[in-house]
Amino acid sequence: MLKQFDLGEADKIITFLTKDYGKVRAVARGVRKSKSSMSGIVLPFNYNLVTIYRGKSIDRINQVRNIFSFNRLREDLVKTAYASFVTEAVERVSQENQANQALFALLLSTLHKIMVEEEKLPYIELIFKIRLLVVLGLKPQLDYCALCNKKAGSAERYFFHTRQGGLICPECFQQNREEFRFQGYVLSARLVKTLAGIINTGFKSLNVIELSEREYRQLDQLSNEFIKYHLELQLKSYDFLHMIKKLGET
Ligand SMILES: [Zn+2]
Repeated sequence: MLKQFDLGEADKIITFLTKDYGKVRAVARGVRKSKSSMSGIVLPFNYNLVTIYRGKSIDRINQVRNIFSFNRLREDLVKTAYASFVTEAVERVSQENQANQALFALLLSTLHKIMVEEEKLPYIELIFKIRLLVVLGLKPQLDYCALCNKKAGSAERYFFHTRQGGLICPECFQQNREEFRFQGYVLSARLVKTLAGIINTGFKSLNVIELSEREYRQLDQLSNEFIKYHLELQLKSYDFLHMIKKLGET
């Protein structure tokens, strides 16, 4: 379940992500009455088996069976903040009637990681953001220069340009020096390797990833900028997550 709002006295419109049909919006009749058998569907983050009647104007939820309840995400404010950010992002980027099984798998595994690996929440957020780009076909380009397509050689430092979508070779950087002066990121070879690990292996890199505060900030900013520019996403829940993080620091 990604999103919900009330309809009339007792109903709700529920938006959820499905494995086979992408994003689905359907009405749950009577769900706000206390005895409704469908009440599990309105719990945020829950993973359900849902039977739907396809209607002319709007689809109707007929039956709900819970497969996995992410109740431990709802009981902890910090985890709720992370999970809300993840579900809002997925809600915004997913399409109706267009299955994206990689996106579906990413949503499930991210919620699961938030639940069980609480000491790694900032890394989980980072991996989610980068993998979100990958499953939407917007993989940051690290193997070739994003401008001239030349294979990236080995170097100690690399220039990464978010708007161009990836690494820029030294020659292209020189040619566009004026334009690039105040844009982009200079990344160490180590950081490029970490980024490649996240792109290619997703949450498997969670066990090996170790960044200094500065390195984390670089990848965090880079992924935020990439998402903002290429996906045009601005999320309310992201501000909330920031507020919760700040509270945790004081
Ligand atoms: Zn180039």
